[in-house]
Amino acid sequence: MRILLTNDDGINAPGLYVLEKIAAQLSDDIWICAPSEEQSGAGHSLTLTRPVRMRQHAERRFSVTGTPTDSVTMALKKILPAPPDLILSGVNRGANLGDDVTYSGTVSAAFEGALAGIRAIALSQVYAREGVGNAVDFSAAEQWGAKVLKPLLDHPFPPRTLVNVNFPPVAGSEVQGVRVVRQGFHDYARGSVVEGTDPRGFPYYWFGLHGIEHTPGSDTDLEAIAGNFVSVTPLQIDLTHESSLGSLANLYRS
Ligand code: MN
Repeated sequence: MRILLTNDDGINAPGLYVLEKIAAQLSDDIWICAPSEEQSGAGHSLTLTRPVRMRQHAERRFSVTGTPTDSVTMALKKILPAPPDLILSGVNRGANLGDDVTYSGTVSAAFEGALAGIRAIALSQVYAREGVGNAVDFSAAEQWGAKVLKPLLDHPFPPRTLVNVNFPPVAGSEVQGVRVVRQGFHDYARGSVVEGTDPRGFPYYWFGLHGIEHTPGSDTDLEAIAGNFVSVTPLQIDLTHESSLGSLANLYRS
């Protein structure tokens, strides 16, 4: 089984090494193509206005000066000798829960794989607020990663779908199990905008993420993580809101 690994935290991110350890439990045919720099929040963006450069770090390890989607595209079109059987994206440093998924480069890399008809799974390690910086504990992902992935490898994924996995912010031994849940919704205003002044006296703005206590909806990814479970959520690329189709069509009926 050929596996392509990618992420949005960059080729040198600690979570990518965690993902390599997880993938090594599944196969020895592992290829890596990841952004050369962190691309968190890049979503499903493609680099169109400038060229991208590729660098080979080892026989099967490459970085691309672009987004996670660029990395998957380069891997599929220029690097791998044949399409992979599986794309794993992560392990992201931080949650990709609820409405995070549309901002997420990690999840979008998996979307790109799903669009190419390849089984794709995004993996993210949620961390506690005191774990900010490099001190993120990936032990839940390390201990539970292969266990969560193995049943998914033989299960058919419907076309243009992927699976989003999040690991709770506790030690592997404290994880309560795995729950298959729907995508939730953060019931707080997203991010703050921090304003400062640069060394030349010009104002700058920096988007922050802030965690405010919220009450997750039942059977959601947010609730599973709050209960220290691994969350497994099937996602689809088709964002159509089915039940609005009829009422909108009525607006234009002559
Ligand atoms: Mn990230």
